[in-house]
Amino acid sequence: MNIHEYQAKAVLREFGVAVPRGLPAFNVEEAETAARSLGGPVWVVKAQIHAGGRGKAGGVKVVKSIDDVKKESQRLLGSTLVTHQTGPKGKQVNRLYVEEGSAIDKEFYLSALVDRGTSRVSFVVSTEGGMDIEKVAHDTPDRIVTFSVDPATGAMPHHGRRVAQTLGLSGELAKQAETLVAKLYRAFVDKDMSLLEVNPLVVTKTGELICLDAKIGFDDNALYRHPDIVALRDLTEEDDKEVEASKFDLSYVALDGSIGCMVNGAGLAMATMDIIKLYGEEPANFLDVGGGASKEKVTAAFKIITSDPNVKGILINIFGGIMKCDIIAEGVIAAVKEVGLPVPLVVRLEGTNVELGKKIISESGLNVTSADDLDDAAQKIVKAVRGD
Ligand code: GDP
Ligand code: MN
Repeated sequence: MNIHEYQAKAVLREFGVAVPRGLPAFNVEEAETAARSLGGPVWVVKAQIHAGGRGKAGGVKVVKSIDDVKKESQRLLGSTLVTHQTGPKGKQVNRLYVEEGSAIDKEFYLSALVDRGTSRVSFVVSTEGGMDIEKVAHDTPDRIVTFSVDPATGAMPHHGRRVAQTLGLSGELAKQAETLVAKLYRAFVDKDMSLLEVNPLVVTKTGELICLDAKIGFDDNALYRHPDIVALRDLTEEDDKEVEASKFDLSYVALDGSIGCMVNGAGLAMATMDIIKLYGEEPANFLDVGGGASKEKVTAAFKIITSDPNVKGILINIFGGIMKCDIIAEGVIAAVKEVGLPVPLVVRLEGTNVELGKKIISESGLNVTSADDLDDAAQKIVKAVRGD
């Protein structure tokens, strides 16, 4: 789960991390009130969307009067921001963050993430802040330093010194780097983050090391123990179909293709997507209904798939192990009766109670094509969406 910059900064503030003062605003009036209470003389109006690259797209404006705070707020609220991270459709700006302006001397990059290679939390540090870190990694990889933290010791002073050395900081600033690394690590572990990215981390002209931007992602599997974090979820930032799927505990990812897939098991779902591509079409989604799906879950999954206007055909590919084929068949029929069947449907069932499952489908009177194996199923659905 991701959160907005202003929420991320509030989380970091709880851990004593230095961030600029700021207030969120949902309309121009609130932005003006925020600006007045912050005092100025310089403010930064920042669009709050779950994507980076806002600066280059005009979503971050440094202004010097309340009038300009209002003007920029007016311009940004309700507008669609297209950045290199949003995709061509962009994201609508519904919230702003009004911050006190900072006088920047230097901009750095600092992030922490779960490194699956070392099974530890790793820090990534670079003097090349404020810009696209992927580009730095590609063009000048020697300017990126990475180290991991032993979970038995946690962040140690030498980690902080490593960061200070990498960033060329000494004296008072090196000390600030040391405490910053300890606090960020603490926040990362305590809140079960999966990513914490500060880009830029800046040195101000008055000699302070502060986090000017913050992006945080949390481990979904640990959210049950962080109700305060769950409360920060902004559903308008998420795909409607994915939100609906999460209510039924379905693993669903929306994609751009034309064939909707309903599969049990992540491996089988991947194989199904692969074979659709092999026969020249693209999957409209990844969907794993899970091992022990109920009729309700199958119905919900079917509704989510058919609600996608890009879906021109549906392929159901189920291996009944724990899950029984007749339950799937009943779920599919219940769903079709409720939402109709606007596109061709191919069903491939295999495993426990497969005969019963096939019988239920063939006796339902619905226009369903049944398939014998995965290859057959993929060819049939591709043929059906192409109308030949
Ligand atoms: P992003 O483009 O979505 O990553 O948004 P950021 O929060 O990183 O802001 C983009 C850029 O705006 C930063 O790299 C800074 O150069 C600039 N910026 C943000 N806040 C301030 C500020 O308070 N003062 C100044 N001078 N520049 C700022
Ligand atoms: Mn940034």
